[in-house]
Amino acid sequence: MDDCCEMGCRDRAASDARFRRVLWIALVANAAMFFVEAGASLRAESTALLADAIDFLGDAANYAVSLAALAMSVVWRSRVAMAKGWTMGLYGVAVLGLATWNVYRGAAPEPAMMAAIGLLALLVNVGVAVLLYAFRDGDANMRSVWLCSRNDAIGNFAVILAAAGVFGTGTLWPDVGVAVLFAILSISAARGVITQARAELVAERGSSGGNPVVQHGR
Ligand SMILES: [Zn+2]
Repeated sequence: MDDCCEMGCRDRAASDARFRRVLWIALVANAAMFFVEAGASLRAESTALLADAIDFLGDAANYAVSLAALAMSVVWRSRVAMAKGWTMGLYGVAVLGLATWNVYRGAAPEPAMMAAIGLLALLVNVGVAVLLYAFRDGDANMRSVWLCSRNDAIGNFAVILAAAGVFGTGTLWPDVGVAVLFAILSISAARGVITQARAELVAERGSSGGNPVVQHGR
């Protein structure tokens, strides 16, 4: 869920007009779904929906970076990664906070809306994956699309399962359980992203003055 869709996108982003259009569609779809899912989480009072929404925000950021790849220096990519890492980490903490608040209040979320939005998220993720899959080049890129889509789908399924659990038990615990799991994954992924970005920035500072070598992959 964390770093998906970073793939080889950025290496060919500027070269292919049709690929750029697909990246724009993916960017807009992911950004829109972040607001839809986060908004629905408040209406349905579902912490799991809020937790699932962060992936759309992270993916939207990745597509934006892919689109800007050529215009963006290595340092700025690392800075964006750093900002993304902190956003993911703080978001995870916010999800834990909301989970605590919802447990304190004790009200069960609205399972029908949870399931409907979870299903919509799944459809959007599959749709974007199909679009990207048409532009795969090489095994690494294909594998990246596959891993990204699979992880996102698992998250969406977990929300739908949580909705079924809420419906079956009449309690908020399945919702809170999934949300806390997502939050912990998000915080641990954020740590990895921040650590790597910090190392890149330190390395970049060490080599400043030299020629700006474009680094492909990691
Ligand atoms: Zn994703």
